[in-house]
Amino acid sequence: MQRRKFLATLPFIPAAVTAMNLNTLNTATSGLKAGAKMPVLFIGHGSPMNGIEDNEYSASWAKLAGEMPLPKAVLCISAHWLTQGTLVTAMEKPETIHDFGGFPQALFDVQYPAPGSPTVAEATRQAVKSVAVKPDHEWGLDHGAWTVIRRMYPDADVPVVQLSIDYHKPPQYHYNLGKELAGLREKGVLILGSGNMVHNLSRIAFDHINDPEYGYDWALEMKAVFAKHILARNHAALIDYSSLGQAAKLAIPTPDHYYPLLYALGLQEQGEAAVLFNDKAVGGSLTMTSVKIG
Ligand code: ZN
Repeated sequence: MQRRKFLATLPFIPAAVTAMNLNTLNTATSGLKAGAKMPVLFIGHGSPMNGIEDNEYSASWAKLAGEMPLPKAVLCISAHWLTQGTLVTAMEKPETIHDFGGFPQALFDVQYPAPGSPTVAEATRQAVKSVAVKPDHEWGLDHGAWTVIRRMYPDADVPVVQLSIDYHKPPQYHYNLGKELAGLREKGVLILGSGNMVHNLSRIAFDHINDPEYGYDWALEMKAVFAKHILARNHAALIDYSSLGQAAKLAIPTPDHYYPLLYALGLQEQGEAAVLFNDKAVGGSLTMTSVKIG
């Protein structure tokens, strides 16, 4: 459009634009203005079947939700959304993504119709100053998010937004990025990292799959090491996990399921306790250890 023509249309725009901007502004602030300060969670999600099976893990997620204030929204950092760059889902209606294979049809049939929240997505983008977080309209809710959150909020009445994991960045990046999200807690947003501290699918002990709490020596060793460092607030050791020895290499062959923990730890404020729950091994090479902060 030529500049003169553009200017000529201006007199017809301001009223509408002003009204629209005010509206947007009101939505952006009123949606997030008040809210109880929320705890921060890291949840060991384990098998996708926890999304439909009634077991001690899914029961613990439901119980946990009942013990916390109802959040305005959930911001989930899932092990299953790995990207280049950091993205945040910004759609009104995120799809339920069935990003797994070899499970019963009943799991594929699950839909979790929680709304998204462009408002929370925008607040997330504004909270992060160190890097440009890009709005995303393609993803949705992967099973790292929905298998857990549907047990916490079965009515799907709490909006859910996902923040991706930039898989090209080092551990310190994820810890620092977590810190930048602190202000969202004050606005009633529940920040939830979803992964598993010990997670080596190539070593699953199929001959012990039904033994509760079966873990290889290295898995149990790392379970204890993680608990020790988390409870001692030794975040530096947890960020530098690759220096924790051979057992750590087996526990974290790839860091996708570990990085969500670093976001949660980055959000632990001075004087805030971290409480462990579901601190158990399953299938030999996984742990379900979860953390509630605040
Ligand atoms: Zn997973």
